[in-house]
Amino acid sequence: MTLPLSHPALSATDPELAALVGAEEQLQAGTLRLIPSENYVSQAVLEASGTVLQNKYSEGYAGRRYYEGQQNIDQVERLAADRAKALFGVDHANVQPYSGSPANLAVYLAFAEPGDTVMGMALPMGGHLTHGWGVSATGKWFRGVQYGVRHDTGLIDFDEVRDLALKERPKLIFCGGTALPRTIDFAAFAEIARESGAVLVADVAHIAGLIAGGAHPSPVPHADVISTTTHKTLRGPRGAMLMSREEHAKAIDKAVFPGLQGGPHNQTTAAIAVALHEAAQPSFRDYAHAVVANARALADALLARGFELVSGGTDNHLILMDLTPKDVPGKVAAKALDRAGIVVNYNTVPYDPRKPFDPSGVRIGTPSLTSRGLTAAHMPTVAEWIDRGVTAARTGDEDALAAIRAEVADLMAAFPAPGLPTD
Ligand SMILES: *Cc1c(COP(=O)(O)O)cnc(C)c1O
Repeated sequence: MTLPLSHPALSATDPELAALVGAEEQLQAGTLRLIPSENYVSQAVLEASGTVLQNKYSEGYAGRRYYEGQQNIDQVERLAADRAKALFGVDHANVQPYSGSPANLAVYLAFAEPGDTVMGMALPMGGHLTHGWGVSATGKWFRGVQYGVRHDTGLIDFDEVRDLALKERPKLIFCGGTALPRTIDFAAFAEIARESGAVLVADVAHIAGLIAGGAHPSPVPHADVISTTTHKTLRGPRGAMLMSREEHAKAIDKAVFPGLQGGPHNQTTAAIAVALHEAAQPSFRDYAHAVVANARALADALLARGFELVSGGTDNHLILMDLTPKDVPGKVAAKALDRAGIVVNYNTVPYDPRKPFDPSGVRIGTPSLTSRGLTAAHMPTVAEWIDRGVTAARTGDEDALAAIRAEVADLMAAFPAPGLPTD
């Protein structure tokens, strides 16, 4: 039995909320978390994000604020930005965006006018909402043209991207996405952006930690702007950064503040600084490479069990399963796996014949399990649980799901998660 962490003040003031936090701690400790955009942050990151830096207003930038009393806050923000610059090898880093979506909106504000044409990967192909998809403000206020992947390979067709860019002449081209299991060819995108006169934005939200750890090529020599969240593979607090060469620094800073945001969340900036410090350690390189090795091993084990994977496998932290051959809709499988203690999300697959709210796929990834210390040797077991879970989803076998849940809890108890209760 795991004991809840003590949050004495919270428990005394608001036991109802404290109980929910305790329940979430138990859930995160006892389940196999496979959502590729999630992770476990360190205790140090948790502590930094819960500090009195929360109490301070600091509109502006270090040395140029609209409020006094910035003796410490300026240093916190400079530390975060300097660490980002050193880690990724960029001239400029803005660490103030509240999250990935506002960071991307700031890029539009910096480089485009409402009604301008912008280009990104279509959401159902693996792109992000904020890359010009219709329901997003970025698709309503700008004219989004969208590329995809080839039906036969599941890979980006650069001839198609080039043709579209030369025909549409977008102001911005976004590369990167949320369901891309393969390496992004930043050089190929950069060439197309140059030919078509577009600003290339590499949105590396999912893979920033892999890039920092040397397990995915860097966009830095190729992209004009790099947008990233800080809470996915990078393993920091929920936040974002915009990075660029010096020539774009002013435009980006102006767009974030005063263009789009007010005061930065200083407790988050502090936690970003801590996460960047952790990401600069040799052990983070080991983690990043282990994330990829685990994903490859899991993909191999799933393929051996007859699963169909979009693009046939993975180069990074993410696997997109098409469950059509298993005769189970993605949502049914995802909900059954949740009852089995395996947390995934249902997802569209490219050219999905089903609806977005009831698609054919399930998206999984290895950052969280890697942060707990699971290795490639565990991946055949993980694949077996997924296989049994999907079969149980089809047959409605709740006993089988309960049995998996017990096995999962057993293994997870042997791999304590950072920041969470242990036995
Ligand atoms: C997660 C993600 C975002 C958005 O981040 P939020 O913090 O959820 O707003 C943007 N782009 C990509 C590619 C992402 O994966």
